[in-house]
Amino acid sequence: MIIDSHCHLASSKFPEADIAELVGRARQQDVTQIITLATSLDDCPRNLQLAEQHAEIYAGIGIHPCDAHEAPEDYLDALTTYAQHPRCVAIGETGLDHFHPAPEGWSTEDYHRRQSQLLEEHFQLAARLDKNIVIHTRDQTGDASLQEALSIYRRYADQVQAVFHCFPFSLEAAQPIFELGGIISFTGITTFKNATTPLETATHCPAGSFMLETDAPYLAPVPHRGKRNEPAYTQNIAEHIAAARGETTECLAAHTTKTAKSFYKLP
Ligand SMILES: [Zn+2]
Repeated sequence: MIIDSHCHLASSKFPEADIAELVGRARQQDVTQIITLATSLDDCPRNLQLAEQHAEIYAGIGIHPCDAHEAPEDYLDALTTYAQHPRCVAIGETGLDHFHPAPEGWSTEDYHRRQSQLLEEHFQLAARLDKNIVIHTRDQTGDASLQEALSIYRRYADQVQAVFHCFPFSLEAAQPIFELGGIISFTGITTFKNATTPLETATHCPAGSFMLETDAPYLAPVPHRGKRNEPAYTQNIAEHIAAARGETTECLAAHTTKTAKSFYKLP
């Protein structure tokens, strides 16, 4: 059994008619639990609906940092209601994105400040509802967004566990996350020839401190690179990372599944 710990099935790239077959293909690849994450207030209902309709699917509720400027002042009321849905297993995807430019009408400073405020409020919501949190950080260069997210996480680490998804840095850079009790997760980027660091990190990352994810519809692993990604391809990521670690795919699947079940509190 393998868990796709992070994807976006409410994306317009996944038409309603495709979902049942997509879940079937995932099952055939032994991917039997799938976490679909909201990125805005608008796609929360669809993510929850998918989780209601399919026993394999669970939802995360949150606002992606690239949508921070769209969140209305009272967004937290709606988010709180969505997050109390019985199929909601985490708060996210949230975080800090210093990679994309500020939207029109926003200074970079104000945009980043709004993202930080939302991240802090997502942590507070997670603590209040006893859920863990899924964090995105991204910079043009360096790791300022990771460092700032860590400084916010530090204030809530005794109540909430965080995953820093699609982790791009060295194992050394992940140590502050582990020290706070957090974990990381790896996407299909680990299968790309031109991105050696994520695979290197995954190769030496201790069992229990990381999960597998597709981040579908984006970042399809080799041999599907460039196509629409989907949860079934978690199997390709598992095989690739297991080979690099010198363990069987079954062994990798077993410990990453245990980590994901514990993080998302899955049955
Ligand atoms: Zn994502």
